[in-house]
Amino acid sequence: RTSMISGIRPTGELHVGNYYGALKGLVEAQERYEARYFIADLHSLTTHPKPDQLRSYVIETARNYVAGGVDPQRCTLYVQSSLAAEICELHTYLSMVMPLGELMRVPTFKEKAKRHPDNINYGLVGYPVLMAADILLFKTERVMVGEDQLVHLEIARTIARRFNQLYGDVFPEAQPIIENAGRVPSLAGSGKMSKSDGAATYISLKDDGTAIGEKVRRTVSDPLRVYREEPGHPTVEGCNVFHLHSYFTGEAERETIAEQCRRAEIGCVACKGQLAANLNAVVEPFRLRHARLSEADAVDVLRIGRDKAREKAQSVIAEVRQAIGLLMV
Ligand code: ATP
Repeated sequence: RTSMISGIRPTGELHVGNYYGALKGLVEAQERYEARYFIADLHSLTTHPKPDQLRSYVIETARNYVAGGVDPQRCTLYVQSSLAAEICELHTYLSMVMPLGELMRVPTFKEKAKRHPDNINYGLVGYPVLMAADILLFKTERVMVGEDQLVHLEIARTIARRFNQLYGDVFPEAQPIIENAGRVPSLAGSGKMSKSDGAATYISLKDDGTAIGEKVRRTVSDPLRVYREEPGHPTVEGCNVFHLHSYFTGEAERETIAEQCRRAEIGCVACKGQLAANLNAVVEPFRLRHARLSEADAVDVLRIGRDKAREKAQSVIAEVRQAIGLLMV
C-alpha cells in the first residue's frame, strides 16, 4: 500500500470542525493507505508550552483521536518525541542541504516572526526542515495537510531532491493529499469554528445532548427572518444554522428543511432541533468511546505505535548513514 503521514497538533479538546476538517479524513485514509499519524509535540515546543500541560495534552490528543476512530490496528499512531532520536538525527542531515535564506522567506515563518518578534527562535526557522524529517524518515509517498501547509510540503520535496542529487536516490518526493477544505462555521455567527473563541461558539466532541441542544438553540440563524410567519433564506450565506446543516445533515433532509423554511412551514426552533439531533449523532459515539478509554489505554496505544514506527525509521536511518558516507562503527 502507498504510505502516507499526517501530523496532529497536541490540543486538549476537539470540536465538530476538527472532526469534519481533520479527524474524518484520517479515519478514512487509514483504510486506503499505510498510514502513520503522529502527535507533533516537538513542533509545538516553538511556543514553549507548560510541561505539565504538554504532557496531558499529548495523552488527551491520543485519547481523542482513538475515540474518534483512528484505529491503532489499521494505522500507526505515535508521539513525535518517542522517535526523537531518529527524527532529530535525520533533521541534522537534512538541515545541511537546506539554504537558510529560503527558510527565512517562507510566508508562515515571516508571519509568525512578525506576530511574536520576541520569540524568533532557531527551531521556528527550521520548522519546515523538521517537518521534512517527519516525512522522509519513512520514505513517505503522501502527506495529508491543510492548504496552509502546502508551502512546507514543497520544501520537504525540495530537500528530498537536493539530498538525492548529492547522495543518490534515497527519498521519494511526497505528494499532498489535501484535507477536507470546508470550514465549519462558528456558532457565533461569523468566521470558522475555533477553540480559541470560547466554549459557547463550538460544539465539543465531548458535549452531551443537552449541551448541544442548548448551544444550537442560542446560535444566530437568519437575521432577515424576524417573525416565524416570514419566509426564511436557507442558504449558506443567508443563515448560519443552514450553513451548519450543510455539513451535518443529509442532502434529502436538508432539501426538505430548505423548502419548508422558504414557505415558512418550519420555524427556527424546529430547524435547530433537527440540527442538534444530527450533531448529536456525530458526537455521541465519540463521547461514549472517549469515556471508555482511559489515559493508560492511550499511553499503551502510543507505545505500540512507537515500536511499529521505529522499526521502519531505523532501517531508513541506516540507509541514509550509508549514503552520506558516515563511518559505521
Ligand atoms: P485554535 O482555535 O487553537 O487555532 P482550532 O480549533 O482552529 O484551534 P486547529 O488545532 O488549528 O483547530 O486545527 C486542527 C485541525 O482541524 C486542522 O486540520 C484544521 O484544518 C481543522 N479545523 C479547525 N477548525 C476547523 C473548522 N472550523 N472547520 C473545518 N476544519 C477545521
